[in-house]
Amino acid sequence: MKKQLLITFDYELFLGPKSGQANACLLEPTNSLLNILRPYGVKAIFFVDTTYLYTLEKYSKQYENCQRDLHVVTDQIQNIIREGHYVFPHLHPHWLDAQYLPEEHEFVLKDVKRYRFHNIDQQDRDLLFRESLRILSSIIHPVSPEYKINGYRAGGWSIQPFEDIKPYFKANGIEYDFSVMRGAYQFSNAQYFDFSDTPNKPVYAFSDDITKEEAKGEFIQISSSVIKLKPYVKMADRIVSKVLFKFAKDHTYGKGVGQQSKMLKDLSPRSLKGHPSKDRSHEPVSVELLSVVKLQSYLNFFREQHYMHFVSHPKMLSNHNLAILDQFLEMVFHDYSIETDFVKIVQLYKKDLS
Ligand SMILES: [Zn+2]
Repeated sequence: MKKQLLITFDYELFLGPKSGQANACLLEPTNSLLNILRPYGVKAIFFVDTTYLYTLEKYSKQYENCQRDLHVVTDQIQNIIREGHYVFPHLHPHWLDAQYLPEEHEFVLKDVKRYRFHNIDQQDRDLLFRESLRILSSIIHPVSPEYKINGYRAGGWSIQPFEDIKPYFKANGIEYDFSVMRGAYQFSNAQYFDFSDTPNKPVYAFSDDITKEEAKGEFIQISSSVIKLKPYVKMADRIVSKVLFKFAKDHTYGKGVGQQSKMLKDLSPRSLKGHPSKDRSHEPVSVELLSVVKLQSYLNFFREQHYMHFVSHPKMLSNHNLAILDQFLEMVFHDYSIETDFVKIVQLYKKDLS
């Protein structure tokens, strides 16, 4: 089977008490990323936080800074499309409760009561889905009239129960979901997901339960990868990132504070096969977690598996992460013929899907 490399990003600000700003969280790191991806012809996917754009649009009428951000972010998304990448919606419903601080030109997203799609009422579900697709369409279709907005990733992986969102998938022609992180679970008052029992393949069809493969299912799941790291690799990584921070001033592009949540301790996952989303030995395959220490583990993973799906956030990237991503790409593209277009990746699983 041809090697499959899927590189995806959640294009969003920080989702807690300090959102950070568009320039540092989105524009600068995304431009650096596009420069790295371009020579390899990687077709990446950007999941754009449309609930942020909806909020920006709302405040644009009153505040020039919001109007300007909406303008430059729109330009960047159009540029992403022109460069041949995919752009799909990504919803963080608690933007509905965001406050804007004009002096700081930042948002406060302290309130996580409505973090999950599950926790908003039908009227708000209708509103957020409709506005998300309207805004994305108004950005994408002027530069690519035939483009189909047929993919989705839930904010904070929190897509369950799938029945909440299924009617919106059907009504809007969403066929591909990218919300499952294989094997992981987390239960908090914000993020809530249980992927402890997922099919033993990265791409599968499903209909009602996002973790259950169903032959001829209505939708296709394209799940993200989890890497197992040896304890000494994680320890060496912590030391190296401290050194890089202190002596090379390596830091994340974005400056903000993510959502703060409390774990719900009395819940247990559906299956013992899974693992907590952030335990000692597992972590998502991600550009922001990639370092010189982990490079060899990532190369081994790619050598051993057919499929590797990165989930990353421009706001979290540092120049070190980007330099190692570049090295990783140079090495794997030198050694293998690689598919990066998710549509063609899905075709490789076609015989399983229909
Ligand atoms: Zn997100």
